[in-house]
Amino acid sequence: MDQDAALIRLAVLGNPVKHSHSPWIHSRFASEAGLDVDYSAIEVDADHLSRVLLKLADEGARGCNLTLPHKQEAFKLANRAGDSARIPGSANTLVFESPSRWRAENTDGPGLVQDVLHNHSISLAERSVCVLGAGGAAAGILYDLLLQRPANLTLLNRNPERAKALAQRLEAHGRIQAGGLNATAVPGGFDLLIHATAAGHRGTGPVLSDDLFATDAVCYDLNYGAAHEELSLWCSERGITCHDGLGMLVEQAAASFEIWTGYRPQSLPVIEALRDRVG
Ligand code: NDP
Repeated sequence: MDQDAALIRLAVLGNPVKHSHSPWIHSRFASEAGLDVDYSAIEVDADHLSRVLLKLADEGARGCNLTLPHKQEAFKLANRAGDSARIPGSANTLVFESPSRWRAENTDGPGLVQDVLHNHSISLAERSVCVLGAGGAAAGILYDLLLQRPANLTLLNRNPERAKALAQRLEAHGRIQAGGLNATAVPGGFDLLIHATAAGHRGTGPVLSDDLFATDAVCYDLNYGAAHEELSLWCSERGITCHDGLGMLVEQAAASFEIWTGYRPQSLPVIEALRDRVG
């Protein structure tokens, strides 16, 4: 019998990607599921993405994750897509249904919602929600946020035109108010601010202002580790609860793992262990 027959080959493709926690997370999931999984991190630039994907699919890989800067291009290369990828036009997960038939999915939104709703017990329905940032990560979460029926959803970005274009892309699925970072908040402020900018990686300081927050508002930062520190400090100085994005990272991985294998791993122990690991 072919010893590799049961081996499930997966990967994450990005640039840079060596910092990625995904191989470690998926090895934890694989142990729990009792599956033989080889999940590697492959650094690839935009010019070589399609060639590397073709090779992976051809060699029998079951699928892959995509991180910066490949989410939009991966979506375009797929033959078909689930709503969570089709609506934003970006994929963090590809499923190689055959070497030439690829399905795009995006588990960032489901991952965020799972972490917010279930791990942090923050309800979204009928709440005023604001997303800061209109890059790939924001694009991947807006549709799933709309599905939770917030009272209103606002998208603010340094470049307001980018926010408006993204809101327009989603308009068939719900109304999103879009503007620049200095736009005024809804009366009374937002109940939940989701920070989805890359500012934390650049050491330029948090992009939030006090008047955005309602009384008892909560902040959720997609960033974690060092990129989360400034915002975490800014919030704690104001008595605002601020969660980092480690839970989302594990939850989006769990959703991808389930898509590829049919097995839904337990995410909470992995989030805890990853928190110890990241420090
Ligand atoms: P993109 O590069 O696609 O977008 C970057 C966004 O950040 C844009 O909205 C950009 O605004 C904004 N931005 C960058 N620098 C600044 C600044 N100094 N001040 C204000 N706004 C700024 O990145 P992604 O959307 O893919 O990722 C955003 C963050 O989310 C990253 O830090 C990433 O690590 C994190 N992330 C976390 C995930 C998780 O699972 N926890 C999953 C995916 C991402 P503009 O358009 O004006 O340039």
